[in-house]
Amino acid sequence: APATAGSRTVLDRYADVVAQVRDNLTKLDQLVGDGDFGDNLSGGVRRAVKLADTTGAAGSAALAQAFLDDVGGTSGPLFGLLFQHLAVAEADAPEPSLAALAEAATGAHAAIHRVGGAQVGDCTLVDALAPAAESLTASAASGTEEAPLTAAAQAAIRGALSTATLRPRRGRASYVGDHALGVPDPGALAVALLFTTLADTHE
Ligand code: ADP
Ligand code: MG
Ligand code: MG
Repeated sequence: APATAGSRTVLDRYADVVAQVRDNLTKLDQLVGDGDFGDNLSGGVRRAVKLADTTGAAGSAALAQAFLDDVGGTSGPLFGLLFQHLAVAEADAPEPSLAALAEAATGAHAAIHRVGGAQVGDCTLVDALAPAAESLTASAASGTEEAPLTAAAQAAIRGALSTATLRPRRGRASYVGDHALGVPDPGALAVALLFTTLADTHE
């Protein structure tokens, strides 16, 4: 990735990824919820692109504003909190330090837990976010990880895939009980794809 790639690049790349997976995320939310997750996510991302275009806001700040102000569902405010923490990390430099990213992911996890109450293992986006935050924190502390954002993305992907084996205990998916077994949580997959996009852009 180019050394100058900033959060606008992350926004544009994430918008491309979300456009590609939108229908499949919707199908997963149809199996365990109300089938609006793909639309909520892609609507918010497209709104963020428009905001960044018209106001010149940084990509992560535009994502935070779009999701906090305009996206409904459970995912709107929760993704908004995640983007808000990333926006703080990226406010100082287009290439946030590993320590700043670790702090952002850890802070987002804490905020999302406060608001939504989900623990690791409850089959939500926390199952992707928490391992990514832990991986970033460990990498920032050791300073020896060659590709720390890629390691964090891999941790998030493993966490997201693990949700297929879990019985949901939070959100709408908790209403369908055992019928959710075998279905990965779409919110967790979307968070894993965000960390993948961060890794692809920054390293
Ligand atoms: P809704 O259920 O309101 O339609 P969305 O479809 O927009 O919400 O978002 C669903 C996603 O939100 C789930 O896939 C899950 O990852 C996430 N989610 C739901 N409840 C919680 C919670 N309490 N904590 C964290 N994430 C949650
Ligand atoms: Mg839904
Ligand atoms: Mg809904």
